[in-house]
Parts: sequence; structure tokens; C-alpha cells
Amino acid sequence: MKVRCCIVGGGPAGMMLGYLLGRAGIEVVVLEKHADFFRDFRGDTVHPSTLQVMDELGLIDGFLKLPHQRLQKMQGMFGGETVRIADLSRLHVKYPFIAFMPQWDFLNFLRESGKRFASLKVMMSTEAIDLIRDGERVSGVKAKMPDGIIDIEADLTVACDGRHSLVRERAGLEVEEIGAPMDVLWFRAGKQEGESENLFARIDPGKMMVTFDRGDYWQCAFVIPKGQHDAVRARGLTALLDDVARMAPILKPGLSEVKSWDDVKLLTVAVNRLKRWTRPGLLCIGDAAHAMSPIGGVGVNLAVQDAVATANLLASRLASGCPSEDELDAVRRRRAFPVRMTQRMQVVVQNNIVNAALKPGNEPLKVPFVMRLVTAVPWLQGITARLVGLGVRPEHVQSPDRA
Ligand SMILES: Cc1cc2nc3c(=O)[nH]c(=O)nc-3n(C[C@H](O)[C@H](O)[C@H](O)COP(=O)(O)OP(=O)(O)OC[C@H]3O[C@@H](n4cnc5c(N)ncnc54)[C@H](O)[C@@H]3O)c2cc1C
Repeated sequence: MKVRCCIVGGGPAGMMLGYLLGRAGIEVVVLEKHADFFRDFRGDTVHPSTLQVMDELGLIDGFLKLPHQRLQKMQGMFGGETVRIADLSRLHVKYPFIAFMPQWDFLNFLRESGKRFASLKVMMSTEAIDLIRDGERVSGVKAKMPDGIIDIEADLTVACDGRHSLVRERAGLEVEEIGAPMDVLWFRAGKQEGESENLFARIDPGKMMVTFDRGDYWQCAFVIPKGQHDAVRARGLTALLDDVARMAPILKPGLSEVKSWDDVKLLTVAVNRLKRWTRPGLLCIGDAAHAMSPIGGVGVNLAVQDAVATANLLASRLASGCPSEDELDAVRRRRAFPVRMTQRMQVVVQNNIVNAALKPGNEPLKVPFVMRLVTAVPWLQGITARLVGLGVRPEHVQSPDRA
């Protein structure tokens, strides 16, 4: 197979880039190793920046018809005190809320919407297993399909294969680890009809958790110190659920739905970024270029922003062949600053709030001064909402529409 662009990975970065390049009339193929997009507890937080992109693509009406929940005011309980973290209703944007939607719905929607582009092909159950090279240049990938191995030659290969990217590893790209002090256990608790609570984050001495109202269930993220998963398991599931029920009594009846460790998924938190995002013929974006901390739920949205920037910078150039490595590097030059700034803010929260919360012992927690200030001064909740919901230097769709 020979194409202009081969995208490895059908996550938010890969599916959005596939859509944008298909829309620009570029011959593009997206390879996804799984047979479907169904994966529980991937990032489900669609922020105003992504909603704006969907609007600019004329997709928003259909998108918002899919089942979702909306969040505007983020407030938490810090050592028994209520704190306000962000208020998205203060944003002067078209869609001032976070839409919670299963990631597979989002990806399926992009896939279905992209079917009208003749030049876009999404190949499910197709796993890239190696790079093809032409001297120094990456000239495509070798991929495993259900019925055998295929060589896909491409002028440009884009790695969107997530934070365990095989492509970037095969390309020998160096990862700079920034690190995180925590891992996260994700699970669902049942929800009774009419049950609701405005709390979003809870922090007690030695413990921290976040809950999202997902309509008919609670999505729960219980934060544990890095590397302590085995120790938490050794204490037993009942001990974990008892901790959860003490922190969030509203969850108690629904916790009976967590029957075994199979119902609890571990997210090993990583914060890192590539020093260099390119090789000749190859570009990495999304988690493959920078894994984000779950703080702020920005991972999906940054992946989408990378895709928009890539199409803006490269779609027209791709029409006439492979961009040079310097042209490809324009994507890093555009996106490295928002990524670095976002990771820096996440590290500040990790160091000042997560570390303090997870410190062993029962010392009472003091609400950090900044959190007190944001709680007391409502317009500051608009600024935190901006940082979370729109991020640094949001992208707008400028790539051509040749469909
Ligand atoms: C448990 C969990 C919870 C999370 N919660 C949140 C959240 O609440 N909010 C948020 O914003 N972010 C969250 N994230 C992070 C978020 O999911 C990612 O930042 C985001 O999905 C990155 O998008 P991506 O397209 O770069 O990569 P991914 O979403 O990782 O997509 C990569 C895709 O590539 C495919 N793939 C991998 N290797 C190959 C290969 N060799 N060949 C073909 N296909 C391949 C994978 O199957 C996958 O579909 C969470 C992540 C996890 C794991």
C-alpha cells in the first residue's frame, strides 16, 4: 500500500488528524491496532477548546446530540473545608463547559463523520510493528493485520500511538521524564436516581480522590502514591472501598458494584515529553510526544490541539509531497510551549497539593493560600477555568476544506 500520510494510532490525536487531512483531500490512512475504540476509563473530558474545534468543523450539533454530562463549577473538599477550583460559566466562549463523553463515542463519531472523505481510510485491527526506512528517512510502517503482514509506504508517518509509542521507540527518539508522585485507580460506583453532589475533588490527610457524575454512575479516581499499587492490593479491596466510603459517603451504596480488582483499573501516571518530535519522514504528536498528568483532564484536548496544529501547518504542504524535517519540526515549535506550560502547572499542583495530600500520617491539612484566594475571589475561578478549559494558546482550524 502506498499513501501520502500514514497515521499510527486511532486515539484522539490520530482520528482528529485523519479527519482533518481527509477533509483537506490528502490521501491518508489511520492504523488502529484494536478492533474497536471501546476502552474503559480513557480520557472522557472534552473541554471547551475541543468543542470549539468541533464547532469550526461544523460537527458540533451532531456531537452534542451524543449522550454526555456537562460540568461548569469545579469545587472540592480540602481537609473538611469547601474550596472552589474553577467556574467555566465565566468563560466568554461558545461552549463554556466540560462535556463528559465516553472516548469511544467521540472516536466513533469522528470515524463516522470522516467516511465522507474519499481520501481517508481507517484500518482497524491493524498494528504497526516496525518502521520501514529508506536510508535515514522513515518511509512507512510494517503492520500486522488479521490476515497477514502489510508494508505501508508513506511520504509522512505520524506517530499517534500513545504514551507507550512503539514508533517513537523504533525511531530512537529520546524521552525526557518529568515524573509524577502518584498513580490513579479508576472505578465506577452505582448511582441512585436523583442522587447528586457538587463535589468534584476530595482531599483528606493521606488520601485524595476525584468523582464525576456520569448520569447513571459515578466515575471515581482514587489517587495513590506512585508505585504503591501492590501495597494497596495487599490491604484488600474492602480496605480500599472503606477508605472511599469514608471520604465520600454518598458513594457507599453504589460501591457494591466494585466486586473485584478486575473492576479497578490502574493508570500509571507519567509526565514526559520528547526532546525532538521528528525524524526525516516522521512526526510524533499527542501522548506519543508528551504524556500528561491527569490533573486538569487535559490529555485528550492537547492531543486534539496537536492534530489541529499539524493539519494547519502541514496539510497544504503535504499535497505536494513530504515536508522537510525542518517543516515537520514547525509542529514542535508551535506546540512545545503550550505543552511545557501545561506540564509546569501540573507539576506545581503535584508538588503543592498532591504531595501534601498523600504524605503518610494524620496531620490536619491546611488549605493552600492560592486555593483560599481562588475560593474567595470569584473572578479568579474564571482564570483557572481558562487554564483548564482552553489551555495555553488554543488552536483554531485553518487547514483547507477540499471535500
Ligand atoms: C486510565 C486513563 C484515564 C485517563 N483519564 C483522562 C481524563 O480524564 N482526561 C484526559 O484528558 N485524559 C485522560 N487520560 C489521558 C488521555 O486518554 C490521553 O492523553 C489521550 O487519549 C491521548 O491521545 P492520543 O491520541 O495521543 O493517544 P491514545 O489515546 O493513547 O491513543 C493511541 C492509540 O494508538 C493505538 N495504538 C497503540 N500502538 C499502536 C500500534 N503499534 N499500531 C496501531 N495502533 C496503535 C492505541 O490502541 C490507541 O487507540 C487518561 C488515560 C488513561 C490511560
